[in-house]
Amino acid sequence: MNERLPRECELLIVGAGPAGMAAACAAADHGISVVVIDDNPAPGGQIWRGGPRVNLPPRARALRERFERLPGLRLCSATRVIDAPTPRRLLVEREHDAGVIDYHRLLLCTGARERLLPFPGWTLPGVTGAGGLQALIKGGLTVRGERIAIAGSGPLLLACAATVRAQRGRLVALAEQAPWSELASFTMELWRWPAKLAQAIALASPRYRAASRLIEALGERRLEAVVIESLGERREIACDRLACGFGLVANTELAQLLGCALGERGISVDQHQATSVAGVYAAGECTGPGGSELALIEGRIAGLAAADQYPLAAALSRRRARWQAFAAQLEQHFALDSSRLPPRRATTLVCRCEEVTLGELETHSDWRRAKLASRCGMGACQGRVCAAATAQLFGWPPPPPRPPLSPARIDSLLLGGMKEVQE
Ligand SMILES: Cc1cc2nc3c(=O)[nH]c(=O)nc-3n(C[C@H](O)[C@H](O)[C@H](O)COP(=O)(O)OP(=O)(O)OC[C@H]3O[C@@H](n4cnc5c(N)ncnc54)[C@H](O)[C@@H]3O)c2cc1C
Repeated sequence: MNERLPRECELLIVGAGPAGMAAACAAADHGISVVVIDDNPAPGGQIWRGGPRVNLPPRARALRERFERLPGLRLCSATRVIDAPTPRRLLVEREHDAGVIDYHRLLLCTGARERLLPFPGWTLPGVTGAGGLQALIKGGLTVRGERIAIAGSGPLLLACAATVRAQRGRLVALAEQAPWSELASFTMELWRWPAKLAQAIALASPRYRAASRLIEALGERRLEAVVIESLGERREIACDRLACGFGLVANTELAQLLGCALGERGISVDQHQATSVAGVYAAGECTGPGGSELALIEGRIAGLAAADQYPLAAALSRRRARWQAFAAQLEQHFALDSSRLPPRRATTLVCRCEEVTLGELETHSDWRRAKLASRCGMGACQGRVCAAATAQLFGWPPPPPRPPLSPARIDSLLLGGMKEVQE
């Protein structure tokens, strides 16, 4: 039987990734009682989610152990925030129950998700995101002996390749969009972050090919091969899995529901990680993708600020600036180049929940019209995948989210509404 959900707290943190855990530790050090909500079964977020195939680095183990032993911490795992029915209150749902939690201050550490772009064959079984394959392997998927292709852009491709190799998968292609010139200038900058330089060397792979374009995934009932273009030459490579990475998109839906202003890359915050809404802070990749080091330091600053420890928070601003500079390098050198994105085909599905093709969407001028006419974005993922794809493909601004943030049970929704009526 589940422990009852808390009804109220001083600081409510959404997300138990690096940012959320660091924030909880910083706030708890100053006597603040903290409730942390996360929809995963265990803390750690995307990078340190744990699982049968995971040997967490010492730094991650230390943080998780400290976090789980915090005095005054209530961790609600496998719990999703589905709505913000009134100010300073969230509606949450678990497998067997739901509840509303009142907070004094709120910290959003909701992270980022993969940007999935449609291309011919992307819905075949065997095709996943690069982070998705990482998560599946960490969760116990066996890839021993399987032929695996990885394609797209960014360092997550290298991390994924390292995981595949460690699990005795056969890496048959590692295709990076960015040209060698970008990769060389990125590497030249890495002396400023020695740990990242060491990581880049450790992750290097002889299969790595720059200026490579993913053309299509082939197969009848599941993936059988992938076509990749490199130096003007197209090659068909037989494989059992394809992991694609086209960068990350900040999870801003809850922030938008609360009325927080957004910047270009995620939730907009000031030097204290405060959002435009009083009492609401944000930290980590929901403010813009930038890696776990930046998420950790932003989380600490936000936790300290939420505990009114402003001088201590200010003392960390130089370290944050250092990792923000690294994030800017990543963004600059691994920016997606539309001429190297997979080719468009009218028959390719963009919204796989509602089976809407690229050709159907192309006849519309914006997301709202496309949605009204085709139901794209109205399925189970609530547009999380296809809205981010159309933002990249057509430049359509992503739509504002509507509650519930994810499909929810009717009794959970009534609970949020009934609470409002009672008061
Ligand atoms: C699929 C994926 C895999 C990745 N794998 C790696 C990797 O192997 N190596 C690497 O260096 N980087 C990886 N990254 C990048 C990684 O996300 C960051 O470096 C780091 O984890 C960011 O920390 P964070 O605390 O900001 O967010 P996250 O670690 O993403 O934590 C956010 C947490 O908030 C939870 N959450 C979000 N919304 C809600 C809600 N409404 N209700 C409840 N909980 C919610 C999420 O489930 C998640 O646990 C990955 C990213 C993705 C998207």
